[in-house]
Amino acid sequence: MTLTERYSSVKNTIPPGVELVVVSKKHTVEEIKQLYDAGHRHFGENKVMELMDKKDLLPTDIQWHLIGHLQTNKVKYIAPFVSLIQSLDSAKLAAEIDKQAKKCNRIIDCLLEVYIASEETKFGFDFTEAETFLTNELSKFPNIRITGFMGMATNTSNIEQVKLEFRSLTDFYKKYEKALALKHLSMGMTSDYKIAIEEGSNMVRIGSAIFA
Ligand SMILES: *Cc1c(COP(=O)(O)O)cnc(C)c1O
Repeated sequence: MTLTERYSSVKNTIPPGVELVVVSKKHTVEEIKQLYDAGHRHFGENKVMELMDKKDLLPTDIQWHLIGHLQTNKVKYIAPFVSLIQSLDSAKLAAEIDKQAKKCNRIIDCLLEVYIASEETKFGFDFTEAETFLTNELSKFPNIRITGFMGMATNTSNIEQVKLEFRSLTDFYKKYEKALALKHLSMGMTSDYKIAIEEGSNMVRIGSAIFA
């Protein structure tokens, strides 16, 4: 299969109402352009410098998502154009995004990254920290709009565990959905996006299934 064929076959497995973010990290501008020409607009990158190099060579109506851990000193580069920062993982980072967004006269949409996996290495807020952030700190950052949550399940073949982890974030999302007018629940990548959608995800981030 060609790249666009793989893209179409993945796209066909995603129900209406679920947004596909194509994770293009480590892939070339030529490959991204092929998917752009096939009609795709939402792309995710996890490294700021790689994103900066690519974006200048590609059409300006691409919606860029930042999906990886973001260092505070790099926020200034993406603040003028980023569509959605999916990896807001600390109050310190929120303060910096707010500051840079203000300079650009923007309100930047962000997802709170919530830690749902049993692995030690992933970034994010736990549920208690997320709750504290939403109730006590978010109002200090008028140039940030929290539009939802992002979570990654444990990398395990235990499907029941993955389901429970996704479900825990869906429950948390439902708790705040109305009050905060949330619209994005970003859960699921190549290995687990079908489970994530079953458990309530409305945004999936898929790389390897498409680029192979
Ligand atoms: C790389 C990455 C993905 C995509 O992973 P695939 O397994 O290639 O689909 C999704 N989310 C994040 C945060 C990533 O870093």
